[in-house]
Amino acid sequence: MTPAALSALSVRSPVDGAHLAELPIQQEAEVREAVARARAAQRGWAALSATDRARPMRRLAAVLADEAEEIAGGIRAETGKPLTEALAEVLVSVDLLRYYARVAARHLAPRRTGTGWLLSKSGRVEREPYGVVGAITPWNYPFIIAMDCVTPALFAGNGVVIKHSEFTPVTTLRIPELCARAGIPAELVQVVTGDGSTGRSLIGGGVDRVVFTGSTATGRKVMEAASHTLTPVTLELGGKDAALALEDADLERAARGIVFGGFFNAGQTCISVERVFVVRSVHEDFVARVVEATRELRAGTDALADVGPMITAPQMAIVEGQVRDAVAQGARALTGGARAPGEGRIFPPTVLVDVTDSMAVMSEETFGPVLPITAVGDEDEAVAKANATGYGLFASVWTRDRARGLRVARRLRAGGVSVNDVLSHYSVPNLPVGGVGDSGFGRRRGLEALDEMTRTRTLLSDRLGLRREPWWFPYSAGSTRMMLGVLQWRGRGGLRGLLRAARTLLGRSS
Ligand code: NDP
Repeated sequence: MTPAALSALSVRSPVDGAHLAELPIQQEAEVREAVARARAAQRGWAALSATDRARPMRRLAAVLADEAEEIAGGIRAETGKPLTEALAEVLVSVDLLRYYARVAARHLAPRRTGTGWLLSKSGRVEREPYGVVGAITPWNYPFIIAMDCVTPALFAGNGVVIKHSEFTPVTTLRIPELCARAGIPAELVQVVTGDGSTGRSLIGGGVDRVVFTGSTATGRKVMEAASHTLTPVTLELGGKDAALALEDADLERAARGIVFGGFFNAGQTCISVERVFVVRSVHEDFVARVVEATRELRAGTDALADVGPMITAPQMAIVEGQVRDAVAQGARALTGGARAPGEGRIFPPTVLVDVTDSMAVMSEETFGPVLPITAVGDEDEAVAKANATGYGLFASVWTRDRARGLRVARRLRAGGVSVNDVLSHYSVPNLPVGGVGDSGFGRRRGLEALDEMTRTRTLLSDRLGLRREPWWFPYSAGSTRMMLGVLQWRGRGGLRGLLRAARTLLGRSS
């Protein structure tokens, strides 16, 4: 390869391989410059009140609504996903902007605090932005995942530098221009293009916080790299989400919901259903309904298809490998099962039964349109199997008894659980999203994301102005008595504590 070829990305359509864009693989110096530009713009932005920042952010929601079809068209060009799914990325982004426009100023406002037994003091907690946030984002959602980071970061007063995956970087590149049209300062949001090396440069490029969304393996590398500068990280990683269909479930809703949760975005969704545990007494009926609902789906690359293509060739290879391995070990594919012939990288929605825990499709992230279904004896076994993974992103429970559903949800090791629903979490900006264990830590969305995008500065001031405090140097028998007295007062509280403290202060033993 020539040096020029090495320094450029060639972005291609997953549908027909058409050349979409040639973009530079930006190196360390360019990444540092992008961070510096964002930082310069961020100073003025942070100096605005949260209410003043909210105005252009609200306008951005209107700009996105005006541009929705064009943005969705761009998303479709580089992912091939159905138009409804591309539009969903814009809709959720709009909703996020409107949510934070309502809540951010109040949540970020300074708050007074009590000062415990130090009655002569005044305490205050203020939130300040980190500065410049580095967002490293994956290929499956070229718009919403970047907006998920950009939105709370900007509301909180930060600048952002985004490095999106080399496979689908084109839509992300539009974000600064859209922000500028809404009146958000030019250069506050930067996008750098490139591959993993550009992501590495961003972590070491002077950013003040990193928000990484991607695989668990890369997440570990990101955390290690960030440790050199002690840069705080949020890790939104992979999952192996379980759906638990209990014997009292509305089987039609459960089957159709789980089919949607498994095949939306062709299964290339971090919170897609990857394992289904169904109580044996309803297993046969449930599987029949899942198969029927799956057979109704049309996989393809046109705007109105139900299930789009695999966005990247390496991901297609993973899905094919896992299904082949499962079938070789005795699993049966009741639908799909192999790549469709012809152009467009289509893997038809695949329902697998007779799967075992040892198969890769049951233990490793698939990230494709594959639903392995296992029969279990009862709720307890379903919970135990659902929790038998290092991942802990999302899960769903299906039962006609909502109280039971919530009870089971609390037994699952996951950052979020839906009862009789699936994926809707992602459309509710109020709900924080994030995982536990191998699915990472930190939260985006909700008020929690504003906390993640800010650090606290705590202020304490003295209101009395005495020459010296009783506990300052020099120590004496009096200061020791005072310590003991306060301790007894705080320890017991109430009148009893006060009387006990008074006795100590007066030098009388109890
Ligand atoms: P990767 O981990 O391969 O890549 C994620 C991002 O990191 C890409 O921009 C990638 O660049 C970049 N990158 C690669 N190597 C490094 C490195 N050493 N240092 C810094 N950045 C690096 O994930 P995928 O893009 O394949 O995305 C799929 C994964 O994302 C799945 O595991 C999925 O579950 C997860 N995901 C999690 C979500 C969540 O909210 N928890 C949401 C969506 C997806 P490049 O692609 O150019 O190499």
